Amino acid sequence: MAKENGEESIETLSVHAGREVEESTGAIKSPINLSTTFERAEDGSYPKGYIYSRNNNPNRESLEKCITFLERGEKCAAFSSGSAAAMAVFQSLSPGDHIICPEDMYHGIRNQINDIMKRWNLEVSYVDFTDIEKVKEEIHENTELIWMETPSNPLLKITDIKKTAKMAKEHEIISACDNTWSTPIIQRPLELGCDLVVYSTTKYFGGHSDAVGGAVVANKNVDLFDEIRNIQVEGGACPSPFDCWLISRGIRTLSLRMKKHSRNAMEIAEFLQGHPDVERVYYPGLKSHPRHEIAKKQMDSFSGMLSFQVKGGKDKAFDVASNVEIFTRATSLGSVESLIEHRSSIEGEKSQTPENLLRLSVGIEDADDLIDDLRDAL
Ligand SMILES: *Cc1c(COP(=O)(O)O)cnc(C)c1O
Repeated sequence: MAKENGEESIETLSVHAGREVEESTGAIKSPINLSTTFERAEDGSYPKGYIYSRNNNPNRESLEKCITFLERGEKCAAFSSGSAAAMAVFQSLSPGDHIICPEDMYHGIRNQINDIMKRWNLEVSYVDFTDIEKVKEEIHENTELIWMETPSNPLLKITDIKKTAKMAKEHEIISACDNTWSTPIIQRPLELGCDLVVYSTTKYFGGHSDAVGGAVVANKNVDLFDEIRNIQVEGGACPSPFDCWLISRGIRTLSLRMKKHSRNAMEIAEFLQGHPDVERVYYPGLKSHPRHEIAKKQMDSFSGMLSFQVKGGKDKAFDVASNVEIFTRATSLGSVESLIEHRSSIEGEKSQTPENLLRLSVGIEDADDLIDDLRDAL
């Protein structure tokens, strides 16, 4: 297939991109290549291009190529987790640089910035990205990065990616988007002008709750990527060949899964919105979502993540979570099975999440079964 130009649709690319038939055997599934080191030729060169597995290996290279194609980016670096991917972006900046982050964002990355990167002297402002003027007001002389996360975790806030990336560009600031909740099947931040896209591939890419990984994808002519690659190789937070293989396998069904996740979540959001014991539903696919129009502009569907607040406070929220039978009580997201989570208690003391909020990662089960489960639990 014409893998060179990446003109194929994303459904075709997710099945084929970056994957070759294995030459020595004709195997159509790539083997898991566990070798940590690769033979040099007599003249000292590396005839196959591989030196040592931390620098690069066939499984990682295949995964990176695949994600690059899906994102229509230029380069990708795969990491051992989404957290390591994010950290590589922050470490590519210099001490004293300033970054702007959304006030509602994945708590693990916020903790990483506050606990680790502040000691590296990275300055940070947390702003409500739904008001672009507020983001603009926070731009200082030393601002080097604007970090988006949309839809955000756990309040499903929507950032206008195109506008924010444009503003960043005008100020010569790097823009990055954590696109974990959407994947390129639904939302492609590079096409909307972002410089970098960051993923926890643990979630929808892997899709089966059995591999941890991350990735950073760069748009064309983003010089900072060289530094990120350097951090991947020299810092060594690399994914194992097996994890790359699992995530690559997950991606083959990504487009099908995202459609089903989105359809199920939409039905569940509508059901919850009409339920008398539900105070509020957060799902960008609902017309009642304050930023539905922007979401519709930049997303092809609305993914499988939603949150809702129950009437009756924390105890009622715990009751609901303890009553479900098909949903599993667990953190994480993006897998084929549906998960329910009382979010503020997993986020810990510093959580700003309402205590009556439950977050759902809607899986690919039958939507009616999931709705029945929630109806009974409520
Ligand atoms: C899970 C998650 C991360 C962190 O990824 P890990 O693979 O768990 O390190 C980052 N951002 C978002 C939005 C996430 O959901």
